[in-house]
Amino acid sequence: MARAVRDNDAWPSVLLLSAVLVPAVCVLWFMGAAMRNERYAARERLAELYRAQLSVSQATIARHWAAAVADLEQIIKTNSPAASFSSAVRAGFVDSLIVFNEQGETLYPNSPSVGPAEAQLEAQWAEASQLEYARKDFDSAAKRYRALSIQLTNVNLRARALQAAARCLVQGEQRDLAIQLINEELSREAYGHATDAQGRLIIANAELMTLELIDDKGGMAFASAARRLEQRLNDYNNPALAASQRRFLMGQVQNLSGGKTGFPTLRAERLAAAVAGRVQPNRGTSLQRSPLSDVWQLSLADSRALGLIETDTLVNFLQRAADPGALPQGAEIALLTPGIDHAGAFVSMPVDPSLPGWKLVLLLGDSRAFDVAAKHRTEAYLWTGILVVVTMGIPTLLATRVLRRRLALARLKNDLAATVSHELKTPLASMRVLIDTLLDSDRLHEPTTREYLQLVAAENERLSRLIENFLTFARLERGKHAFTFSPLPASQVVDAVVDAVRERLSTPGCRFEWRVAPDLPDIHADLDALSTALINLLDNAWKYSGDIKHIVLRARVENGQVEFSVQDNGVGIAPRETKCIFQSFYQVDQRLSRRGGGCGLGLSIVQSIVSAHDGHVSVGSEPGRGSTFTISLPAAARPAAAAKEAIA
Ligand code: ADP
Repeated sequence: MARAVRDNDAWPSVLLLSAVLVPAVCVLWFMGAAMRNERYAARERLAELYRAQLSVSQATIARHWAAAVADLEQIIKTNSPAASFSSAVRAGFVDSLIVFNEQGETLYPNSPSVGPAEAQLEAQWAEASQLEYARKDFDSAAKRYRALSIQLTNVNLRARALQAAARCLVQGEQRDLAIQLINEELSREAYGHATDAQGRLIIANAELMTLELIDDKGGMAFASAARRLEQRLNDYNNPALAASQRRFLMGQVQNLSGGKTGFPTLRAERLAAAVAGRVQPNRGTSLQRSPLSDVWQLSLADSRALGLIETDTLVNFLQRAADPGALPQGAEIALLTPGIDHAGAFVSMPVDPSLPGWKLVLLLGDSRAFDVAAKHRTEAYLWTGILVVVTMGIPTLLATRVLRRRLALARLKNDLAATVSHELKTPLASMRVLIDTLLDSDRLHEPTTREYLQLVAAENERLSRLIENFLTFARLERGKHAFTFSPLPASQVVDAVVDAVRERLSTPGCRFEWRVAPDLPDIHADLDALSTALINLLDNAWKYSGDIKHIVLRARVENGQVEFSVQDNGVGIAPRETKCIFQSFYQVDQRLSRRGGGCGLGLSIVQSIVSAHDGHVSVGSEPGRGSTFTISLPAAARPAAAAKEAIA
C-alpha cells in the first residue's frame, strides 16, 4: 500500500513540470520559427539591396554594349571591308569580323580574285620559259625575264617578269642577286599592288621567298626583311592582298621568325576563315550562337557585318562593364551563358535584351552575410527565449521540490497516524483482556495471576518500545533529535548495547554472542543514539529468526572504518526487498512484523542515526539462511586513551 501511495505522489510533480515544459517547448518553437523568419527577412532585404546594385550594373552594361556596338558600326560604315576587319579587331570588342555586301556575299575574309588574262608578248615570254623549264639555263632565263620586265608596260606583267627572274636566279644558285632584285627592284612602290596570274600580291610572296633564302634567321638582314613583310601584311589598306594570302603569309612569317613577329589580327583571320561560308548575315541585333562552340555572332550595321565574339572576351567585357566595385566582401557578379544556371546564385536578372539568355547573377562567397544581417534580432529572440524558459524553469523546479517535500510530509503524517493507532490498539487490547480476566475471577490463583501479569508486563514492554520508536522517529524526521557526539571506544558501545539487550535475548533457544576485535580505534559518536540503532538491529534479528536463534554482534575495523554488524540465522530478505526495507513504514511481511511488535520504522531510524554519524548501513541477506546488517562509521582521529595520555 505504501508503495502505491508513493507512486501517486509523483503525479503532482509530473503535472507541474508538464505545465511548464509544454509552454517552454512552445516558446522555444516560436523562437526557432522567429529566428528562421528573421534570417529569411534579412535575406530578402539583402536580396533587394543587391538587386538594386545589379540593376545599376545592368544599366551600365547596356550603355557600354550600345556604345561598343555603335563604335563598331561606325567603323564598318566608314572603312573598306579589310580595314573594317582590322580596326574592329584592334578595337577589341569583337574577336573577328565577317563583312558582307548588300547581297549577303562575303566581302571579307576574301580570296585572291583572278583578273582578266593579260596580253603578253607571247614569243619573248615563251622563250624565257623555254630557257627556264626546258633547258634549265637559269642564267639566260633570268636575263630574258629581266629584259622582259623592262620592255613590258603593264605593271603586273613587269612584276611577274621580275618575280620569274628572281626565281631563276635562285635556281641558278645566285641567291644574293635574287634577294637584291627583290629588295631593290620588285619592292618599288610601283609594284606595291601587282598581282600574279592567281590574283596574289607578288611582292608579298617574293618577300617571303627572301626570308626563306636568308640563312641567318637571327641576323639583321632577316629581321629587316621580316619587319618589311610584317608591315605589309598588317596593312589592311592594300586591296591586292586577299585575306587567304595574308593569313597564309602571316603564318609562314611567324614560323620562320620563331614567333618574333607580331600579327595581332592573325587569330581573328583564322577565326573568320573558320566561320565564313558557314553563316549568313542575320537580321536583328541580338547575340546568337555561331557554328563554333564558345563563339557568338552579332549582326552589325544592318546585316553588313557579323562580329564574332568568344565567350571569354564577352564575359570579360561584360564583367568590366558591370563594375562590381561596390559589392560587399565575398560577393561577386558573374555572367551566365544561356542555358547555364548557378546553384549559388543569390540574385539573378537578364543582362540585356540584345543578349538573349545571358544572365547577370550575384554570388555570395558565404551565406554568413545573412547571419550578420539577422544577428542582432536573432540574438534578441534567443535571449528572450532563454529568459522566458529560465524564468519559468527555476520557480517550477523550486515549486516541485517544495511540493514533493510537502507531499512526503503529509504522507508521513498519515502513515504515522494510521500506524500509531493500529499498533497501539493490539497491546492495549491484550492487556485489557488479561486484566479483565484477573478482575473477573472470584479468587486469584497465584500461578495463573503471575503468568497473566508477566504477559501484561511483556505487552507493556512492547508498547513502550513502540512508543519509544515512534518518538525517536518523529524527532529524527523533524530534525529535532539532538545528538551529542563525543570520542568513545567502540567497545563501550558494544558494552552498552549488550547490557540493554542481554536479558531480552536470553530466551530459551536463543544464543547471543558478541565479539569485539582488539585495539579498535575510537569513534566520534552519540552513545545513546548509536546504541538505539544497534538495539533495533538486534531486536530485528531476534524477531525475524525462528525458534532456534543465533545472533552475533561484532565490532571490528574494515578498510579504516569501524564496523558494527549484527548477524542472525533468521528468515532472511529477498534481494529485491533489501532496497526498500530502509524506507519508513516499509514491511516485508506485516504479519511477521506485527507479531514481533514492529511498525516498519526500526531500519529507517537506524539509517537516520547512521547518516547523522556520517556512516553507512548495508545489508547482506539470503532468504531462509539469515541476514547481516552492517553499520560502518569513520574512525576518530586517534584513540581516546591516547588523547588522555597526551593531555596528562
Ligand atoms: P519492523 O518494525 O517491521 O521490524 P523495520 O524497519 O525494523 O520494521 O524492518 C523493516 C522490514 O525489514 C521488516 O518488516 C522485515 O521484513 C525486514 N527485516 C528487518 N530486519 C530483518 C532481519 N534481521 N531478518 C529478516 N528480515 C528483516
